Amino acid sequence: HFISFEGIDGAGKSTHIAALADALRAAGHTVVLTREPGGTPLAERLRELVLHEAMSPLTEALLMFAARRDHLDTVIEPALASGSLVLCDRFTDATFAYQGAGRGFDWDTLAQLERMVQASRDGVAADGGAALRQPDVTLWFDLSPHEAAQRLAKARVPDRFESQPEAFFDAVRSGYARRMAAAPQRVVRIDSDQPRAQVREQVLRAAQQRQLL
Ligand code: C5P
Repeated sequence: HFISFEGIDGAGKSTHIAALADALRAAGHTVVLTREPGGTPLAERLRELVLHEAMSPLTEALLMFAARRDHLDTVIEPALASGSLVLCDRFTDATFAYQGAGRGFDWDTLAQLERMVQASRDGVAADGGAALRQPDVTLWFDLSPHEAAQRLAKARVPDRFESQPEAFFDAVRSGYARRMAAAPQRVVRIDSDQPRAQVREQVLRAAQQRQLL
């Protein structure tokens, strides 16, 4: 099982991923907790570049997918093959939301990169019928950008993306909504405006519904 966690910055993903990982381990699963951009030594180096250097939207998109391919090859695919549960803090939906809707990079080009990079075997582009690697479940922490900004202001020093104006996050949130609407079978929307305990309940319920808890 491959579970991804998505949402704009400040929506509370990180807290709830850690809590779900604990619950799943307590239920006897082997859990691999990882994140994007990042998750491997190479991809973490790419993450540092993407988060802290100025670059064109195309360069940014290519680095995101390069990092993703390394992550798939060396962490995600081997973990899934050995029967582990993979919990991933952001995956391709974030690329559509941030690089696509946020930075205005072409949606169809992202979809082409997705098809190339998430083909199931050896980096060879998927031919018509080949399935793409996608999360089995995506928990989408949805929250108004205004509320998210207030939470973040209290929490930490912003990186290059987090210091964007609220309008940027409005665009990112719309990008998420567009992307998620296209994959209703794997997406569970978590209303992150609620108090933390209720958000946690929703997360656990989603896992129970998939017979993981
Ligand atoms: O989720 P996390 O806080 O680790 O993400 C780090 C930063 O990278 C965030 O500010 C997020 O907005 C940004 N990001 C991005 N494009 C992605 C994934 C994350 O701009 N595809």
